Amino acid sequence: MPADSAPADYPLWHPFTQMARFEREPQLVVARAEGNRLIDTDGNEYVDGVASLWANVHGHSHPHIVGAIQEQAAKLQHSTLLGITHEPAIELGRRLLPYLPGRSRVFFSENGASAVEVALKMAVQYWANKGRPERNRIAALDMAYHGDTLGAVSAGGEGPFRDVYEPLLFEPLRFSNRSADSLRDLLEAHGHEVAAVIIEPRVQGAGGIIVAPEGHIAAVRALCDEFDTLLIADEVATGFGKTGAMFACDLEGVTPDITVLGKGITGGYLPLSATVTTEEVYQAFHGEEGRKLFHGHTYAGNPICCAAALASLDLFEAEDLLARTRKRADLLVSLLAERIADHPLVGDVRQQGLMTGIELVADRDTREPLPSDREAGWRVCLAARDRGVFIRPLGDVIVLMPPLSIEEDELAQICEAVAYGLDRVPRG
Ligand SMILES: *Cc1c(COP(=O)(O)O)cnc(C)c1O
Repeated sequence: MPADSAPADYPLWHPFTQMARFEREPQLVVARAEGNRLIDTDGNEYVDGVASLWANVHGHSHPHIVGAIQEQAAKLQHSTLLGITHEPAIELGRRLLPYLPGRSRVFFSENGASAVEVALKMAVQYWANKGRPERNRIAALDMAYHGDTLGAVSAGGEGPFRDVYEPLLFEPLRFSNRSADSLRDLLEAHGHEVAAVIIEPRVQGAGGIIVAPEGHIAAVRALCDEFDTLLIADEVATGFGKTGAMFACDLEGVTPDITVLGKGITGGYLPLSATVTTEEVYQAFHGEEGRKLFHGHTYAGNPICCAAALASLDLFEAEDLLARTRKRADLLVSLLAERIADHPLVGDVRQQGLMTGIELVADRDTREPLPSDREAGWRVCLAARDRGVFIRPLGDVIVLMPPLSIEEDELAQICEAVAYGLDRVPRG
């Protein structure tokens, strides 16, 4: 060990975590989880109000998914997809495609950011392979979030997630989520050089649960057609039911050229992601050796992960889970209206399905933001733990994104805990 490095009591450095804060706050060590609840090492239970970072779909330790994982682990735990294949991946490709009409090819990776990188590379190489290498730029939404690897960060919105890494990034063209007119302007000026337009359809997640107006996805699709560029839909957050539809693009009957899936694909059990595309895109890579897609991760399409994803699809197909989700989302609308929306700190409540953002402000009329040193979002979430609820904010936006399996009383408990937390933010 180098002389200047002291051994730490606590060996971990956590993702997206200010460790100074982590060290001074009470630690929640999760020991196990059942249904929609996390259980810590002292036996305290917390409703999982953010579905373990937006991933969990059917609740934790579901016997059908756990059983599928155990069975697959005993049979084939891993074999590569680089040049050879295996049944769980083939079956998962076949089972996913009926949910994604108009698309025919599934490229597996291990996490959402990687699957976004694949989508970007696929789009640029598609045009290169078609002899149109000048179409090599990406158009992305303001405030976009597509993951934390450099290509995904490049496409992501400006701000602390991105600015410091600027020297390592490419510059996308930017347009607004509020109206597609800004995309028209952009494509009129730059359409000939745009390889693809990437969106988070309907709901921008990490940008603050920003809900686009109805019709925005369809308008973007129409513009991509008019200007002959590809549409990439990043459904890593919105996929697998959280918006009340299986995929957010379904809300507007849109078929993207490339769809990115992650988070909920395995029900939130194991790391897996997919970049799904059309035969048109796929065919541009078909032929000589040099036309292939130069990308691949060691554990891409791991059989155990695929088995979990197949078991998750079984559960979607066993009952009308989307109808149930929409009922839960309606209940959440009324709970938020009753308990949260009128609170003096609440400037806006945004919701699509179970994806919810509660924005805290200093002044409800002017929507003036709170000073960041009040740490209001963080305080609300920390206080909610006292009421048996685990949630995590995005700055001063309280995020609620429970599993689809959330029960009515658990939704009420989440909203009660948020109201309790709001009352504990010191007045400015
Ligand atoms: C979480 C997220 C990603 C990144 O997924 P990881 O698995 O964390 O790499 C990409 N896009 C969107 C919209 C996300 O919400």
